[in-house]
Amino acid sequence: MDWRVRFVDYPEQWRRQRAELLPIIEDTIARGDLMLRRQLHDFEEHLAAFNHSARAVGVSNCTDGLRLLAHALDIGPGDEVVTVAHTFIATVSPFVLRGAKPVFVDIGTDHLMDTTQLAAAITERTRVVIPVHLNGRTVDMHAVGKAAASAGAVVLEDAAQALGATFDGRTAGTFGLASTYSFYPAKMLGALGDAGAVLTDDQELANRLLRLRDHGRVQKAEIDGWGYNCRLDNLQAAILDYRLGRLPGWIERRRELARRYDERLRDIDGLRIPVGPDADPLRRDVYQNYPVTTEHRDRLAEHLRADGIETLVSWPIPLHHQRGLGLDHWKLPRTEELCRQVLSLPMQVELEDWQIDHVADSIHRFFGRPA
Ligand SMILES: *Cc1c(COP(=O)(O)O)cnc(C)c1O
Repeated sequence: MDWRVRFVDYPEQWRRQRAELLPIIEDTIARGDLMLRRQLHDFEEHLAAFNHSARAVGVSNCTDGLRLLAHALDIGPGDEVVTVAHTFIATVSPFVLRGAKPVFVDIGTDHLMDTTQLAAAITERTRVVIPVHLNGRTVDMHAVGKAAASAGAVVLEDAAQALGATFDGRTAGTFGLASTYSFYPAKMLGALGDAGAVLTDDQELANRLLRLRDHGRVQKAEIDGWGYNCRLDNLQAAILDYRLGRLPGWIERRRELARRYDERLRDIDGLRIPVGPDADPLRRDVYQNYPVTTEHRDRLAEHLRADGIETLVSWPIPLHHQRGLGLDHWKLPRTEELCRQVLSLPMQVELEDWQIDHVADSIHRFFGRPA
């Protein structure tokens, strides 16, 4: 396939960053700084500062971050975890694997948790509420905070897709007890492999997570409880630290690209686009993804592909319809409809303006003459 617009273009990313990344990689390896060294501590410090959090704990990936939190909070059988079914399986699995029951809330028009339905989902067994800040947009955290507080439940934010997004002047991931981030290569801030972090203002919890990620070790030879091996590689941390410095500029570029899509796609009958970057005074979205919806999703994807444009349907099957999970008693009409209609258009820092125009022109042609 001769793509004109890739969904994610790792080779192009490498071409642009190679000159700056190679010396960092060389230096880290040459020093022998491979595990739990300065580069990791630097990255954790910079990440906490970027997010206005007290502490950041680097972990092997976002899923493991949630796993460590579920362990630290002693989640177990009888506990309920309230979240959405329009998310990655990893939001839920660490809690279910400890014996907790997931409770799903349907989503609103912006693809995020419909917080007006939250109160009805909360019971006396609710231990955790997990808002998922999908696509670089923050859930209404005032509503989440209120509902969780009324139940005495803890809020953990799945901020895997929202590093740098804000809601009412505060950064996504700073509202709850803790939040988790993914640095999977395709995320806003990507490593060259798996990586993640947990952020929190709770010093005691942060120290607990530091031990849990490293076999329960306090010092090299002293163990204060059962733990895991969920460390963030030092080399990945060094790469992430460099990239974190560039993230503010990258976020601006993503918002610029979203603005361009917005202007070009705003008035198409039968196509719904995300809230524009300047349309919501309460939020600053960072556009991890640019998802559009249409009843003709599969045909549109095919049409774009024929024009050399690569798109993605992240989750064509909602969690509760996945076979083998035992969740099929849930009925979530808006989640189910979205899974049939949603299509993510190319959105990455490396895109040129002409590529956005190429995508927009192709979409106009599709809706101009529906087959
Ligand atoms: C990517 C992602 C995760 C999992 O992140 P990993 O680092 O791959 O474990 C969890 N939740 C959401 C919403 C994600 O997009």
